[in-house]
Amino acid sequence: MTPKKTNKRKTSKPAKSTKARGKTAHAAGTNPKRVAAILAKLDEAYPSATCELKHENAFQLLISTILSAQCTDVRVNQVTATLYKKYTSPEAFAHANPRELELEIRPTGFFRNKTKSVMGASKAILEKFGGQVPRTMEEILTLPGVARKTANVVLGTAFGIASGIVVDTHVQRLANRLDLSRNEDPKKIEQDLMRIIPREKWIQFSHQLIWHGRRVCVARKPKCAECNLEKLCYSKDKTV
Ligand code: SF4
Repeated sequence: MTPKKTNKRKTSKPAKSTKARGKTAHAAGTNPKRVAAILAKLDEAYPSATCELKHENAFQLLISTILSAQCTDVRVNQVTATLYKKYTSPEAFAHANPRELELEIRPTGFFRNKTKSVMGASKAILEKFGGQVPRTMEEILTLPGVARKTANVVLGTAFGIASGIVVDTHVQRLANRLDLSRNEDPKKIEQDLMRIIPREKWIQFSHQLIWHGRRVCVARKPKCAECNLEKLCYSKDKTV
């Protein structure tokens, strides 16, 4: 009699694929508890963070934000302190002498392109929007020189409308360092952040990250010893 074959079952669990392990590792940075802890720490450090471009209305904020491309807010504020006394409305900017305006905004850099954007946006506001800065992302993006970053600054700060998250150079750097996004393209970073940050925090989160990037998590030699996010951060750029 031939002995019966016994069906031995394998009991060991299948090993995780590299792809699955990669997914798990990626999710670690955007774990909702970790994101909530980061938001709480930002609230603690910067309870009243706000836009540092001086302005009295949405139109001035729009112009200042256009001027702030590749320039510090301090420099823009110095220029606009006199600029807004001379040009007091969209009409004034729309009908400016371009050569004069170029000289006036020259200290902010890229002054020829910025003059075209400032005058073009002012004309469009007059001709298409009855002299008022539009309040929707779709409309504001039709203004010359206005891309998502500028649109988010104006809609969020001037009107309190959360249409997206401002991704400037600081937000871009910090989103990567804090492992909230592994993308480098600002549009993709914004999409990543919009997925994990609650909408009611979008405006304040943008200001707080910009403040943190200017004061503590600076581009070269971040001041990690002073950073209240240090325990949550595992960036390769850490200095402690
Ligand atoms: S610990 Fe350092 S690198 Fe991390 S967020 Fe703070 S300052 Fe930036």
